[in-house]
Amino acid sequence: MLSLTKEDRVRMLSAVSRKGAAFTALRIVVITISLALLVMVPVTGLARVDLWGGDHLLLGESVDFFAALKGSIIAMAIMYGGTFISNMIVGRFFCGWGCPVGYVARFGEDVANSRSKLQEILMHLKGASFVATFIIAVMLWWVDPRVMIDGSPTAKAVTAGIFLIMTLGGLGHAFIWRFGFCIHVCPIGLYYRLVTSKAPVGIVFKEIPNPCIECGACEKICPVKIDPKALGTVVEQKATGFDEEPERYGDAECIRCGDCIEACKMVFSKEAGAIPPLRFGRVDEHDSQDTSSASSP
Ligand code: SF4
Ligand code: SF4
Repeated sequence: MLSLTKEDRVRMLSAVSRKGAAFTALRIVVITISLALLVMVPVTGLARVDLWGGDHLLLGESVDFFAALKGSIIAMAIMYGGTFISNMIVGRFFCGWGCPVGYVARFGEDVANSRSKLQEILMHLKGASFVATFIIAVMLWWVDPRVMIDGSPTAKAVTAGIFLIMTLGGLGHAFIWRFGFCIHVCPIGLYYRLVTSKAPVGIVFKEIPNPCIECGACEKICPVKIDPKALGTVVEQKATGFDEEPERYGDAECIRCGDCIEACKMVFSKEAGAIPPLRFGRVDEHDSQDTSSASSP
């Protein structure tokens, strides 16, 4: 494999975010739908707890605090239930495409990959706007936004203070922690790590018709630091108590972000008609490959 430095990764990330238009546009669509769903619940009155004015809502009706809280918890459980179902089909796709926290981590990478001061400032502004929008979406579940117009000075100050603290936390995540949160801390990610999905759809490595040139670009760009070429290969047998279940490399880690595919596409982009070996597809299409590196993700 070619030796690639950290700077190579930065250059590749930068090129992928500039040229990977198909995935970039698609990711914006998916994250917009995700945020719209998050906002829709409190704004339509499906469920909202109003810690300021006590105007609690459930299915559009005014209800007491506990009924609204119960409704909010059920709405959250349904939304997360949707991601668990998608996990059974496409693995951690939600982490790589629909999760606002994961999306925030991408802004941090964009800032690090900026090629000029102006671009860096613009990326900071873009990231900060997204973080602020996400925090507002979360706060709408807990407070009627009219507090910022009709609220007392104390209510306004408390609401603005919570917004600022949460936004600063989000920015810290974006520009310092980045995907480290998704890998080590996120409770949804931890759940996925515990119950690996064996989803039928994922990143597939298939050598026909173009062989891998072992450039290492896909590995270098992967935000969760795994080898995309080895995904799907069986690495060990897991004792379940009832049966011996085969465990596939990367099921618990790969967030199906597609960065490795974009990097691989770029490597092959100068060859007319070339089909890169990495792609989305059915995991059972995966070519057998040397997985000596797969046992230590
Ligand atoms: S293996 Fe590819 S799709 Fe999976 S997390 Fe890494 S870069 Fe993203
Ligand atoms: S799969 Fe593509 S990006 Fe990865 S090493 Fe092979 S040619 Fe390079």
